[in-house]
Amino acid sequence: MNRTCVRAVTVSTNHDKEHTMLDPKIEKALNNQINHELASAYKYLAMAAHFERQNLSGMAHWMFQQREEEHEHAMRLVRYVLDRGGRVELAAIEKPGADSGTILKVFEEALEMEQENTRAINDLYGLAIEVKDYATQSNLKWFLDEQVEEEKLMDEVVALVKLVGDDKSALLVLNRQLADRQPDGKE
Ligand code: MG
Repeated sequence: MNRTCVRAVTVSTNHDKEHTMLDPKIEKALNNQINHELASAYKYLAMAAHFERQNLSGMAHWMFQQREEEHEHAMRLVRYVLDRGGRVELAAIEKPGADSGTILKVFEEALEMEQENTRAINDLYGLAIEVKDYATQSNLKWFLDEQVEEEKLMDEVVALVKLVGDDKSALLVLNRQLADRQPDGKE
């Protein structure tokens, strides 16, 4: 059973905006996506800690960086909902599963997460088309492009981990390589 770590919170004041420019269905879907991004951040945090415990600090660093990106994605959506006069409703975040698998299993799980997230963004975009919400469509285009990058990146790491196989020295080289990951947009 999944225990939750964060209680559901509704961010509101006594001075709520009188109206929102968002369709209620879109507002709900955007809030779901905020939760999705935060849940991803949380899972990447668990993966980072898992690698750190195994002395794979390069892989841990890579996952910490990934966690930050997911958090930024959530914040982008929070900003957007607020800019449209919408209500941000923070739901509980699912507890990440126990990370006891092999390195390959962890990265494969990460790839699956990204593929699932792409589907979620696509569905959200589809909904924005359905209700003719052009501003949301425009905002989500950044996320569509970002997901192409995320899947490509994760796919590459999975391929590298497979290539390394049981070769311990190759694993250490890969670990060092992943330690070089810089925050997005920085060299
Ligand atoms: Mg994301």
